[in-house]
Amino acid sequence: MKIVMLGAPGAGKGTQAKRIAAQFGIPHISTGDIFRANIKNGTELGKKAKSFMDQGLLVPDELTVDLVIDRLGQDDCKKGYILDGFPRTIPQAEALDKALAGKGEKMDYAVDVDVPDENIISRMSGRRACTGCGATYHIVYNPSQKGDNCQVCGEALILRDDDKPETVQKRLSVYHEQTQPLIEYYQGKGILKTVDGTKNMDEVFEEILGILK
Ligand code: AMP
Repeated sequence: MKIVMLGAPGAGKGTQAKRIAAQFGIPHISTGDIFRANIKNGTELGKKAKSFMDQGLLVPDELTVDLVIDRLGQDDCKKGYILDGFPRTIPQAEALDKALAGKGEKMDYAVDVDVPDENIISRMSGRRACTGCGATYHIVYNPSQKGDNCQVCGEALILRDDDKPETVQKRLSVYHEQTQPLIEYYQGKGILKTVDGTKNMDEVFEEILGILK
């Protein structure tokens, strides 16, 4: 099963993507996580990506597309995967479809986690991310059982630079301009499913499971 998760930054698509991946035993592929791992390891890609991410901008397609297409060619992707944060532009979606078509494959579902902008801004200020393993929490909706430390690996939790209010505004406008058109793109392909992302995490998860089963 191949799934694309869509939704504004902070809509909760990453949290849902991880749960779906665990449920179906497929890899969770997050371009944001891949870029953050590169930043942490001080790679050339990480340095380039950081300059865009810190401003709330998208990393250019030429740095993003090949990275994902290569990842999808790895063995663990043979029985499917869930893409979280990719595609984020129409050219990325077209490149993905082209690469899949070349292998006689296609995307099965695009799940849009729909949340209005007003909810996004208040949610993002409460987000916390682990500096060690990248796990994400929310101080109200999904707190770590270890307070300011990660309940998975114990490292410190932080408010990511790109989750700060001034950057969130920018990310939201970038989302509306460049990523939201993907909703229509996947609707046109007949695979778009929309879920109400304002419900609590468990309800959203159940709704998605109902769609995928
Ligand atoms: P995320 O963790 O998915 O919210 O991604 C964090 C940041 O990484 C985004 O705000 C972008 O700067 C960058 N990023 C992640 N995925 C992509 C993508 N598919 N295309 C371009 N930039 C991306």
